[in-house]
This record gives sequence, structure tokens and C-alpha cells, in this order.
Amino acid sequence: MAAAERNRIVIVGGGAAGMTAAIVAARQGAAVTVIERMARVGKKLLATGNGRCNLTNTNQCIDRYHGANPRFVQGAFDQFDVKQTLSFFEELGIEPVFEEGGHVYPASGQASSVLDVLRYEMEQLGVEVICDKRISGIEKGRKGFRCVCSDTGEYPADRVIIAAGGKSAPNLGSNGSGFKLAERLGHTVKTPFPALVQIRLDAPFLKRLSGIRIQGRAECRIDDVVTGSERGELLFADYGISGIPILQLSRPVSEYAGTGRKLSLHLDLFPDSTQKEAAERIARRVAHNPRKTLEMSFVGLMHKRLIGVILQQAGFEDSRSACGNLSRQEIHRLAMRMKDWPLRCTGVQSWMFSQVTAGGVDVDEVDPRTMESKIVPGAYFAGEVLDIDGDCGGYNLQWAWSSGWVAGMNAAG
Ligand SMILES: Cc1cc2nc3c(=O)[nH]c(=O)nc-3n(C[C@H](O)[C@H](O)[C@H](O)COP(=O)(O)OP(=O)(O)OC[C@H]3O[C@@H](n4cnc5c(N)ncnc54)[C@H](O)[C@@H]3O)c2cc1C
Repeated sequence: MAAAERNRIVIVGGGAAGMTAAIVAARQGAAVTVIERMARVGKKLLATGNGRCNLTNTNQCIDRYHGANPRFVQGAFDQFDVKQTLSFFEELGIEPVFEEGGHVYPASGQASSVLDVLRYEMEQLGVEVICDKRISGIEKGRKGFRCVCSDTGEYPADRVIIAAGGKSAPNLGSNGSGFKLAERLGHTVKTPFPALVQIRLDAPFLKRLSGIRIQGRAECRIDDVVTGSERGELLFADYGISGIPILQLSRPVSEYAGTGRKLSLHLDLFPDSTQKEAAERIARRVAHNPRKTLEMSFVGLMHKRLIGVILQQAGFEDSRSACGNLSRQEIHRLAMRMKDWPLRCTGVQSWMFSQVTAGGVDVDEVDPRTMESKIVPGAYFAGEVLDIDGDCGGYNLQWAWSSGWVAGMNAAG
């Protein structure tokens, strides 16, 4: 096809969604240009899955997605689901490894290999990739679009795909500029807030616990109503608490922080035992060596630095008294604190530490079957810039691949 006849597509953002859209559109014969504000494309991809890239999850379902209208994701998943995503990557050379919980990683164990194959494919297809350029405005004229750069230059296009991400981890590229571009085109942006992020706590003992890791269950409550419960490794830090279960629970804490609502986490340090069983366990330890100090009697059962804090939280000020002095009632009080330890949340860590952005371009203004704007025909959206965020575990990248695929296919169409 002569260059002049080809559909010219400019993609704003060379992240997971933008690169997928570029490959799909170029395969359809479009002349594709990706404009990326960082020095190279896919910087965030390299950081995913702790450098291993949890590229999808086989336990896909709508319940894993959030936003004002999570059902919006179905339009893209109907066209490009997990199976098709895995075939797409296998064709590019990525062999998948399936792990517990449906997590899928590349067999190489390297996020860089996912980026390498995407970049290679874009190169093979003749996709023009321009880095170190930030699009600051998109103007619609009679004959298509003008994508204006922040410094010099502009790029004409028949169609544009905005795949500029959200506001999370701005050091890796996405700084909210996609929201501004969308607003200037007339779109509504639902107020963004950080999700999948560490939770800040108000407690005097955080410095003492900072750095320790424990296994347990955490339950999140907003105004005493349970919003979720997750089990796994919990990490204490001087600001509060972290770990995968905490990231999963963080969304409502982030949403309601600063609104006057009561935000709390309740930790269960013995999730495999009932409160009665925990009390019996303590009673057995006490009976075995009643002359041990209270503090010493729990060494070997829980992290040493946690013992003094838990005793204090259960109302035992003198941890050096003999454990044999504990009454049945006191043993039950201790067991209760170990099974239900309430912590007051004050909010979440900043954008810099969040893995994903909640909020974004209102999906009611976008066609779920094509990702095309209902307000500005010819403009498309893909990925985290939209008001869709997923749980931890491969769900966010799956959204980026699926929405990128649909946007690329339809923009080229
Ligand atoms: C540390 C970390 C680990 C994660 N791990 C996982 C994981 O293992 N599995 C998972 O599913 N999800 C993970 N996520 C989330 C996942 O990476 C994102 O949801 C996904 O990358 C979003 O893709 P995107 O293409 O929409 O946006 P992004 O990847 O953010 O890409 C947007 C791109 O647009 C560029 N850009 C922005 N504005 C402009 C502009 N005006 N002009 C030009 N370019 C612009 C940015 O520089 C960026 O490169 C992780 C996130 C983080 C931060």
C-alpha cells in the first residue's frame, strides 16, 4: 500500500498498552508512530512482578477489576482474553510458566524478555518509535489530528490512541499527563487515587517493628464494615504496613483517606487456629514452664520483636512477670489480641509507591467494543489511563494487553 494511503496512527505512550496497540495496528497495515516521554519505551514493564513480569492471571473474572463501571472490561476480554494473550506472546517467543494462584510469568524469569520481544516485533513491523518527546496537546481538525509536542514539533494523524497510563510510579513514566490530554478533548476524568499501595498506620510501636515480616491474615474495615480480607506475608515499616495482602486491601483506604471515615486493619496472627485453640496453645506453653517470664514464654512462637508489643496491646505492662501467674481469663485476653489486633490507618503511601491508579477517563464516554471515544471519533484509549484498575497478580497487565489490542485493531480498521 502506498504510504499516503495508509492509515496514520499516533500512539501516545510506549507502555504495555501502547506497544500492544502499535503491533496490532501495524499488522493491519497502518503507519504507526509511538511517542514516549521517557528515554526508552516500556520502563514500567521492566519493574513488574519484581523484575519477573507477572504478565497475566488465568483466574480472570470481572470481580478482579474496579472502577465506576468494572463491567466495561468485558468488551475487550471478549475479543482478546488470557488464552489469546498467551498465544500472542508465545508467537513472539515468550514461553509461559504457570504458578500458584493463576499467576503467569515468562519462562526466562525476566521482565526484560517481554519488553525485548515487543520492541523487536515493533521494529520488524516498521513501527516508528520516538522517545524523549512528550505530547502536550491533541487537536482535532477537519482532516484528522495534530499531536503537539511539549518542546518542538507536532505529529499529524488520522487516528490517535491515548495509552499514557495513570499517575502511579511517575519515575517510570506515567505522570497523569494522559488525563490532561483526555480532559482537553472534552472527556471526564474520575478523580485518580493510588491503589495497590502500602498502608500508613498511626501506632507508637512502628519503629520497634520496622523491618519484620510475619505470616497472618489482615482484614480491612471502613467505619467497622469489612471491605476485604487477605492472607500472606505482612511487612512492618516505620510508616505502617506492606506486603501483597496489604496492597490488595489498600484501595478503599486510599479512597476514603482524609474523609473522616474510620479506617482500620485487623490482624490475625494465627489464621489457622480459632481463638479457643490459640488460648489452648498459650495455656500449654504456660503450663510447660510456668517460671518463664511472659516475654520469654512466647519466644519460638512468634517474632521476638512482636512479643512485647502484643503483650502491651493486650494490656500486660510487666512482660517480666512469671507466665505461670496468668489467669484463664488473661490467657483468653491474650489469645483474643493475637486473633484480632486492630490498627488505625491514616492513609496510604504516595503515588511513587503505588502500583496502579484507580480512577481515570470515564468509561461511559468510551465504546467498550472498540475503545473509541464517544466524544471525539478517531480518538481511542487503552490501559491504565481509563477508569479501570485490577487486583494484584497479573490483572493490570492483562487489562493493558486486552484494551491495547482492541484499540489498535479498531484504530487501524
Ligand atoms: C512496580 C510495579 C510493579 C507492577 N507489577 C505488575 C505485575 O507484575 N503484573 C501486573 O499485571 N501489573 C503490574 N503492575 C501494573 C502494570 O505495570 C500497569 O498497570 C501497566 O503497565 C499499565 O500499562 P499502560 O500501558 O496503560 O501504562 P504505562 O505502563 O504506565 O505506560 C504509559 C507510558 O506512557 C508514557 N507517557 C505518559 N504521558 C505521556 C505523554 N504525554 N507523551 C508521551 N508519552 C507519555 C509513559 O512514560 C509510559 O511509558 C506493576 C506496576 C508497578 C509500578
